[in-house]
Amino acid sequence: MRSEVRWSCARCEVSAGQIDDRPSPLPPTWTTSGGLAYCLSCSRARAADEAMELLPETITGEARAKLRRKALIRFEISRSPDSANRVIASACRTSTMAVAAVRDEIDIPLSTGAAPADN
Ligand SMILES: [Zn+2]
Repeated sequence: MRSEVRWSCARCEVSAGQIDDRPSPLPPTWTTSGGLAYCLSCSRARAADEAMELLPETITGEARAKLRRKALIRFEISRSPDSANRVIASACRTSTMAVAAVRDEIDIPLSTGAAPADN
């Protein structure tokens, strides 16, 4: 894995690195795409934006917002499949019900070692 003294986000320019200026691997919450690094909140936004680009323009308003939220949940689940639904729900500012529904849809169940979901 690539190491950098400072990682800086290609989208919002926030940066991350070790205090002592030694090269470090990509922060665990960051993602890379096409050689560029993105912080967690930009990674989320990018995942949602990408999903929006695939939607036909006829889908607007509330339906679009709903699908955007879903894309965000999907991103968050695939990023940390072992997180409890309520953790993902709070990261995406949504309900645990919504997270559970998306989880069913994309078929990434909580691993059996994780704490039981609160439902
Ligand atoms: Zn960023």
